[in-house]
Amino acid sequence: MNADPAARLAAQRTLSDGEFVGLLSTDRYDADLFAAADRTRRSVYGTDVYIRGLIEFTNYCKNNCLYCGIRRDNRNASRYRLSGEEILACCEAGWELGYRTFVLQGGEDPYFTDERICSLVSSIKERFPDCAVTLSIGEKSRASYQAYFDAGADRYLLRHETADPGLYGRLHPAEMHLDNRIRCLYDLKEIGFAVGAGMMVGPPGQTAAHLVEDLRFLEELQPQMIGIGPYLTHRDTPFAREQNGSLSLTLRLLAVLRLMFPRALIPATTALGTIHPEGRELGLKAGANVIMPNLSPADVRKKYELYENKLRVGGDNAADRSELERRVEAAGYRVVVDRGDPK
Ligand code: SAH
Repeated sequence: MNADPAARLAAQRTLSDGEFVGLLSTDRYDADLFAAADRTRRSVYGTDVYIRGLIEFTNYCKNNCLYCGIRRDNRNASRYRLSGEEILACCEAGWELGYRTFVLQGGEDPYFTDERICSLVSSIKERFPDCAVTLSIGEKSRASYQAYFDAGADRYLLRHETADPGLYGRLHPAEMHLDNRIRCLYDLKEIGFAVGAGMMVGPPGQTAAHLVEDLRFLEELQPQMIGIGPYLTHRDTPFAREQNGSLSLTLRLLAVLRLMFPRALIPATTALGTIHPEGRELGLKAGANVIMPNLSPADVRKKYELYENKLRVGGDNAADRSELERRVEAAGYRVVVDRGDPK
């Protein structure tokens, strides 16, 4: 048996709890771990990087997650909603630039009833039949998810945030429950969505053992997409004085996830690009294969402030797109024009 955990993880796709804790208790730079993850990524996806056009269409939210800058109780947030026409205009601009997936993300905004969401989804699918639509709008009933699916939505992102009930309780208000979030994820999967789960790295109170619980949960759920990023503070939340999560631990975790889930679609997230100027490139080199640039209108980007100093590139979609292409190529990969469905 090979004693090196990275090599064993690459071969077996899992490790014991103790070995995982060992891998995740340090944030040492581990060239072997990243190289193993990159080999696995290349064996499935080559050098392809899929891009998703992110449209942050509302920052109204009825939830009050303790870490999040657009939580209900943040009176300093300046709230906005995009109209249907504005959302379609974002897609139009994105399509011209080669985006073939649109991600509609927002707070849990009661204004966007199922009827409104379904009508948005079906008009996007009608106008851009070669594109995938991903929703990321939080916890809903099974019937709502079914309606979105029937309207044409292809994928759904709902991070589980943490698989540990105690930590979940520390990060969320009493009216939110881990059980419901997990129920949502299984409903979405059964309905037929490609599902994305994931967690923040380094929110207050998180330990390596919690991260191992997340890995076990993901092994059970087998999501097609896994989104992780460092926790980043926001001044107008109860966690204002807490520390940001760690870049290098996030990178280690990306590599571990790639080795465990060779086919998963794993983004190098905006939070990663926020904590370090080359965070997203480092994420790609550690096993990520997706980037989700912002297509929201320039004047609302600042308002979708989940955390402070959120990465904002120029704001000119076309210039941003060529800059992205250049950066991805410099890292050794290639942006492709493709829906980027799970393999
Ligand atoms: N309302 C939707 C979308 C939430 S925003 C939903 O509930 O799924 C998308 C993700 O941003 C969240 O799932 C969370 O993991 C992440 N996020 C929120 N606040 C953050 C913070 N302060 N730092 C880093 N990531 C954060």
